[in-house]
Amino acid sequence: MASQPPGGSPEAVVQVSPVACTAPAAASGIAELGREAAAGGVPQFADAMIRCDRLVRIFATDGVEVQALQGLDLLVARGELTAIVGASGSGKSTLMNILAALDVPTAGSVRVAGHDLTALTARERTQYRRRAVGFVWQQSERNLLPYLTAWQNVLMPMQFSAVPRKARGQRAGELLDLFGVTSCADRTPAMMSGGEQQRVAIATAMANEPAVLLADEPTGELDSETAGIVFDALSTANTELGVTILVVTHDPMLSGKVRRTVAIRDGRTSSEILRRHDADVADTPAHPIEYALVDRAGRVQLPRDMLETLQIRERVRLEAEPDHIGVWPDFEEHRQS
Ligand code: ADP
Ligand code: MG
Repeated sequence: MASQPPGGSPEAVVQVSPVACTAPAAASGIAELGREAAAGGVPQFADAMIRCDRLVRIFATDGVEVQALQGLDLLVARGELTAIVGASGSGKSTLMNILAALDVPTAGSVRVAGHDLTALTARERTQYRRRAVGFVWQQSERNLLPYLTAWQNVLMPMQFSAVPRKARGQRAGELLDLFGVTSCADRTPAMMSGGEQQRVAIATAMANEPAVLLADEPTGELDSETAGIVFDALSTANTELGVTILVVTHDPMLSGKVRRTVAIRDGRTSSEILRRHDADVADTPAHPIEYALVDRAGRVQLPRDMLETLQIRERVRLEAEPDHIGVWPDFEEHRQS
């Protein structure tokens, strides 16, 4: 096993040859995954609902440039409930605003529910926001109109999209019931608790049957018990209504409830955790498997906690095995320091 360290690459990143790996994530880029998907080669992405390819968003204020997104790639399959985690300022809200068509990327491509968001006319943009996506934001003032009751708030988006009156009333009733807030029907937001406001916000976001629901820290202002209830309402929307959901959360307890958690670091997707239930053993807790993403240049970002545990700093030693790549701390470096 203990072979010599390979000729030292001074980079702190791990170069992984795409041909050495067989997992779909190791293909050399999203475009390639897209081609494979179109050819039926990657079934889980054949039906991608969200596809971001090298998204860049640069903000220039007072002559200072901030690169909020630095070439972000993301694929989300239809029907998935995915959590997005990342430190404050890592670009999560910038991504959500672009997916909501409230902002446009500086470069890169983004497709959501079959719409190319970089090529929408003003009219298409309005239609997209009205019908294709629903949003839930952290602040309930952004989600609900304060002078309307819960019932009226849920009806409102349907009035803008010409749903027949009878169908509107029926759907509003069903949605309030599904999210357990029928008792709020005649109350304005000021007369609801924070958790009730967010559940009514989810009902409102789902009124026009969007394909995608975007939620940016919807539980950020709630205590943990209430946050759990609101998060369960999102799960309900996902399982009962089949909507694809992307939810930004700071709370590891909540991200632990979803099958897939994608981490954003410095404006890029850096790693993700997939939780799989063991099909053979009933009632086993989901077993989390951590993945690092491989970019087109073959770069992998290793999670910080793993680096710290093994005191990995400047470089690592790599060992190509038939079915995996071994990554080892550089003992030479440790001896010298
Ligand atoms: P997060 O939601 O992960 O906390 P954001 O996407 O809000 O991060 O912000 C990412 C970076 O972009 C931050 O450095 C932030 O200051 C900057 N930023 C976000 N929006 C703007 C804007 N409208 N103008 C200038 N800078 C912005
Ligand atoms: Mg944010």
